[in-house]
Amino acid sequence: MINVAIDGPAGAGKSTVAKNAAKELGYIYVDTGALYRTVALNTIRIGAENDLQVLVDSLEELKVDLKFVDGVQRVFLNDEDVTDLIRTQKVSMAASLVSAVPQVRAFLLDLQRDIAKKNNVIMDGRDIGTVVLPNAQVKIFLYATPECRAKRRYKELLEKGEEITYEEVLDEVNQRDYQDTHRDIAPLKPCEGCIMADTSNLTLEESIDLIVNTVKENI
Ligand code: C5P
Repeated sequence: MINVAIDGPAGAGKSTVAKNAAKELGYIYVDTGALYRTVALNTIRIGAENDLQVLVDSLEELKVDLKFVDGVQRVFLNDEDVTDLIRTQKVSMAASLVSAVPQVRAFLLDLQRDIAKKNNVIMDGRDIGTVVLPNAQVKIFLYATPECRAKRRYKELLEKGEEITYEEVLDEVNQRDYQDTHRDIAPLKPCEGCIMADTSNLTLEESIDLIVNTVKENI
């Protein structure tokens, strides 16, 4: 199976770029952030955001699944399709927090490896090249400046009708970067031997081409 790992900070366009590149290559696109977001949604629902023990205990009863409908990923929390519910700022921030909990990362590891074992995948996340698929044939670190990422994210949120200012989005981008790069377990960092892809000055189309060509050249 061909495994492509794409890591990088929040808002670098990873998911859109990876999704489209996967389509062109005929691979499955796996968005691992959705898994952390699903655990985060459950954590919010049970009011365990500030109670690590309750959060860890809740994993025993928790079922998280990914299904692919016409190549498009849907994520399930105890059989409820939560694909759309996990796309809020509140869940984003909680996902960044729960993802620093080692038991949460361990809980989601096999699920991710299993999918990659059975399919040609482009898997995107924060620790795919470093931890989840260190033997992936192609490992890419996709990034852009915080200002570029905040600008893109701000536009997306406005389109969704969320009331937020650019400065707030930039603050959250910086805060999430800090949380993701400074945690003890699986911190976000370029893995050894990865290909660095800077999308700050690229259009979406150019970014997709860059990834498709990079994959073709390296498999
Ligand atoms: O990619 P996305 O923004 O949806 O991810 C939400 C959060 O989940 C990130 O801020 C990050 O903390 C966490 N995450 C992670 N490891 C991954 C994917 C996401 O820690 N492989």
